[in-house]
Amino acid sequence: MNTPVCSACKTREAFFHRRYSGETLCRKCFTQSIEDKVRATITRYRMLSFNDHLAVAVSGGKDSLSLLCILAKLKRFRPKTTLIAVTVDEGIAGYRNEALEIAAEKCEKLEIPHHIVSFKDLYGFTLDELILKARSKGLTELTACAYCGVLRRKAINIGARQVHASKVATAHTLDDEAQTILMNILRGDVVRLAKEKPVTSQVHPLLVQKIKPFCEIPEKESALYAYVKKIRFQDTPCPYAGEALRNDVRWMLNRMEAKHAGTKFTLMKALERLRPAIEETARREEFRTCVECGEPSAAQLCKTCEMLRRIS
Ligand code: SF4
Ligand code: ZN
Ligand code: ZN
Repeated sequence: MNTPVCSACKTREAFFHRRYSGETLCRKCFTQSIEDKVRATITRYRMLSFNDHLAVAVSGGKDSLSLLCILAKLKRFRPKTTLIAVTVDEGIAGYRNEALEIAAEKCEKLEIPHHIVSFKDLYGFTLDELILKARSKGLTELTACAYCGVLRRKAINIGARQVHASKVATAHTLDDEAQTILMNILRGDVVRLAKEKPVTSQVHPLLVQKIKPFCEIPEKESALYAYVKKIRFQDTPCPYAGEALRNDVRWMLNRMEAKHAGTKFTLMKALERLRPAIEETARREEFRTCVECGEPSAAQLCKTCEMLRRIS
């Protein structure tokens, strides 16, 4: 049997078949295609201005480290753009330390400054302490990921402000985006659905604009990029991993994708087309400032302060 040849360079041996596009790529053309795609996404959604000081949210996992490496490479096309990595230390014993060390090592190699913000400094609790406290009070309706997600979103925004970033890039992949879209539909949360964008709107002066340069990269390809480029990343799962609804939605979307290649893209494109209609509904929700911490909030009290009040 003949070894398949790369459909791009037509010389090297292919190792990856991209089902949704029909391409069969060698390692070099595959990694090049990911870098080209990220560059095209940044241009299409006008994610960057020529002189942005960009904070990159780096968790130490495969997606964020691949993103950091690609942005460091793309910097040669944007010499006035500066990068800084921001890592959130949630305070998860036996898990977060390894990720912090991997992230720091990569930043040093790429000569990118690294800033760490911790839950403990910002909120007075590590995630471990917070979960223990919530459980001891019998508050079991929210999962660790529900607390972590809310507190981390805020921490990334504060961290980005601390380093005076003009924007913050997160490594949300096509899979993350498709899952979030479907989860918001299943929860009936139209306001959050409308907010789900490759570039967030500037709704509050304290909210740093968020961009998602990986929003068109399937998670599988981001992992493959890290593997081919031999990027060291943390692959031990978080001890709290497993938000019930997201896991179910991930499983369902992966099954759909296996049967109908391109499903995740279709979902994202559908939201793009629906956006003008649903944005009207979302606009009715006014953005204000939390009465307790002064951070941006959709209600009088932001979600973080609401959670912290309940457990204290
Ligand atoms: Fe936080 Fe959940 Fe992710 Fe762990 S798996 S880091 S608790 S969101
Ligand atoms: Zn090739
Ligand atoms: Zn608050």
